[in-house]
Amino acid sequence: MTSSFEHPLRPQAALAVVADHLIKRFGELEVLKGVSLSVAEGTVTSIIGASGSGKSTLLRCMNLLERPDRGELAIADEAIRFTRNPQGDIVGLDRRQLQRLRAKVAMVFQQFNLWPHLSVLGNVIEAPMRVKGISRKQATALGEHYLERVGMADKRDAYPAFLSGGQQQRVAIARALAMEPRLLLFDEPTSALDPERVNEVLGVIRGLADEGRTMLLVTHEMHFAREVSDQLVYLDQGRIAAEGTPQDVFDDPRCRHFVAPAA
Ligand code: ADP
Ligand code: MG
Repeated sequence: MTSSFEHPLRPQAALAVVADHLIKRFGELEVLKGVSLSVAEGTVTSIIGASGSGKSTLLRCMNLLERPDRGELAIADEAIRFTRNPQGDIVGLDRRQLQRLRAKVAMVFQQFNLWPHLSVLGNVIEAPMRVKGISRKQATALGEHYLERVGMADKRDAYPAFLSGGQQQRVAIARALAMEPRLLLFDEPTSALDPERVNEVLGVIRGLADEGRTMLLVTHEMHFAREVSDQLVYLDQGRIAAEGTPQDVFDDPRCRHFVAPAA
């Protein structure tokens, strides 16, 4: 599937993500109504849209926390086609493929979701040991490297409850990086923070963008999205209503009311 697609903004680039006509329902409610999206390797895509428009669901489909009812999804070199069998069960993914996919995608959540009973370092090394099967010693070296990267090395032995929200989120970012994922997902990573803590987290994310990490970011920080993104996607009631460069989307009459509401 991947080879038949060209990224509209970067025709030459390899694609890290291709979602083709994803549909996701919760009971009667169709939350994603056929979303198609591609993300070129080494680029940042931000998803914006009103609360309830399906942003989190779309992101959660990307790492298979939610399973789409229909559509196709390719992440790096794993392609999956979702459909329903005659019994109505969603098919299109076996356990081994799910594990391979999960190892390629890491997510940072609004509420940090650190394990309270583990130290900062413990939080960062747990998944690499469990999912990738690397030794504690190797995972510790990796963990220390990424804690350094987010400016949290000196807190390696602290417990999450003793950290500010901004510090917890930086640890959560180090935890995601320690999986050395092909794709990083951020779901409103600064929405739960005190205003004075927002910039320290945006600064880390900006640094990752400058490094050429492939990222998909849901955010309400419009200035940041505009500045850091190669591609912007405006989701409205489960459909992509506008997409393109940040400039294109900010100028698009269909979303101007959203990105720059009249004062
Ligand atoms: P956003 O992140 O843009 O605010 P969401 O993806 O969280 O939107 O939610 C989109 C819609 O799907 C909302 O109406 C929400 O109530 C519904 N929804 C999300 N998750 C579930 C779920 N697990 N079960 C039922 N409905 C859900
Ligand atoms: Mg959400």
